Amino acid sequence: MNGPETRECGTHSFGQDIVTADNETVARPVSRVIPVDPFDLVIFGATGDLAQRKILPALFRRFCAGQMPKGTRIIGAARSSHDPDTYRALAADAIREHAPNRGCEDGTLEEFLACLDYVPLDASGTTGWTELAGHLTADRVRAFYFSVRPTLFGDLAERLHDNGLTTPETRIVVEKPFGRDLHSAQELNAMLASHFEERQIYRIDHYLGKETVQNLMVVRFANMLFEPLWNSQYVDHIQITVAESAGIGNRGDYYDRAGAMRDMIQNHLMQLLCLTAMEPPAKFEPDSVRDEKLKVIRALDPVLPHHIVRGQYQAVPGQQEAHPSYREAADNPRSTTESYIALRVHVSNWRWAGTPFYLRTGKRLVARSSVISVVFKDAPHSIFGQEGGRHANVLTIRLQPNEGITLQVTIKEPGPGGMRLIDVPLDMTFAEALGPEGEDPPDAYERLIMDVIRGNQTLFMRGDEVEAAWAWTDPVIAGWEQRGEVPKPYESGSTGPGDAELLLKRDHRSWRGIKP
Ligand code: NAP
Repeated sequence: MNGPETRECGTHSFGQDIVTADNETVARPVSRVIPVDPFDLVIFGATGDLAQRKILPALFRRFCAGQMPKGTRIIGAARSSHDPDTYRALAADAIREHAPNRGCEDGTLEEFLACLDYVPLDASGTTGWTELAGHLTADRVRAFYFSVRPTLFGDLAERLHDNGLTTPETRIVVEKPFGRDLHSAQELNAMLASHFEERQIYRIDHYLGKETVQNLMVVRFANMLFEPLWNSQYVDHIQITVAESAGIGNRGDYYDRAGAMRDMIQNHLMQLLCLTAMEPPAKFEPDSVRDEKLKVIRALDPVLPHHIVRGQYQAVPGQQEAHPSYREAADNPRSTTESYIALRVHVSNWRWAGTPFYLRTGKRLVARSSVISVVFKDAPHSIFGQEGGRHANVLTIRLQPNEGITLQVTIKEPGPGGMRLIDVPLDMTFAEALGPEGEDPPDAYERLIMDVIRGNQTLFMRGDEVEAAWAWTDPVIAGWEQRGEVPKPYESGSTGPGDAELLLKRDHRSWRGIKP
């Protein structure tokens, strides 16, 4: 890439070939940059945490990849009174901090910053809207990213409409949380629907933008190997873990009103469950995929009270200052909000009858690790007798860190001395297999933002999906409230409360380790 002209579009190869285990050289996959026409993207909440840590760095990376055509405009909007230059300086700092080592040529950041503007604007007032209108170009894709607190979503939708800023080519991107229960999600859907068509609404769940999550669909539906085995006849159970080593940090105010069920299970883990359990869609098209996910949510059994464990992290003695307990971090000494959940759920349909799905997520756990493990049944009869032991194949889909897929297979332990069997991983780590050396795979936000511009809703949640997820979640939360349940304490840096181990032990199973 030599200049802005070549950035407009095009394809480029990652260059180096891959040498396989058989010493065969195969071409490294080509990274295709699908060109888009120049577009306008407005980031409401442009001075906030999400904009600085994720949205601006993602846009810069797409710019570096040559996917942002000349003439594209990115307009930041928030109440703070920046002028375009001070905002560009703020954006530059954020990009340097959060998108380092991107291998961009010198000067690229300055070229990117030239695409950036800023408009001081009040989402719930009247200031700034006329100025914003003046920055927008007719007859091009116009995306409005709602990166503000959810109570402003309705105000933004209304003002975009009332100020005549919406066109048929307008899209809005709505961040999570999308409601806090079924009723509020329905109200929000209705409010957005009064100003936008469903095809214009992009409810973002960044987990769906992860390379491995999409690969889950490819592994399942493009390989003959797995799909015939992907059912209760061959799969013993499935575990989905999203573990975080960080605590609630400075999000205590929001988190204490949400908890792990609303913050993680209702959206991220539910989406992962859907993609793991769904039937093959007829086509890889937005509504075909979303129809199948919706069927999974509707097939979920209610969770029984003894199939769910809630936890709340405690400080490690002597480390209270550096790593306070949940209640201290939330500044709520009597909080009964859970920072951890483990649960067992069943998908009641022909494919999955009798196969439990175990979901767990928590903060301040031993490591940051998001993994789906499909644990296959033992072979029906071991011809190797006692010596062979028990072995199960496990397909592990790692979402973070080190995105990749591993298949655990059983082989003979090398060497003389009998037929001892061991489990070894067949490992495909995407960073090694598919990317240029030293470069991370694209961040989920990069893919999702470009999907918005291209008008592809496949990786975004439809309104009825979100409502169905709340309809399943609400009774669980209502049950705790009625019973006045208090979460079990667990030590920071552990794998969660002991009762979560018992949840699987009762079923003669155990959790897979949480590894960084
Ligand atoms: P944040 O750091 O508090 O930023 C909020 C932004 O909104 C700021 O730019 C603020 O700027 C602006 N704002 C507040 N009131 C406004 C108004 N009346 N008019 C215009 N702008 C206004 O929040 P955040 O963490 O970036 O989160 C933004 C959204 O993303 C939230 O819905 C959050 O739930 C969601 N989200 C965030 C993360 C994350 O990692 N941060 C992850 C997932 C989802 P001014 O004060 O200058 O107006």
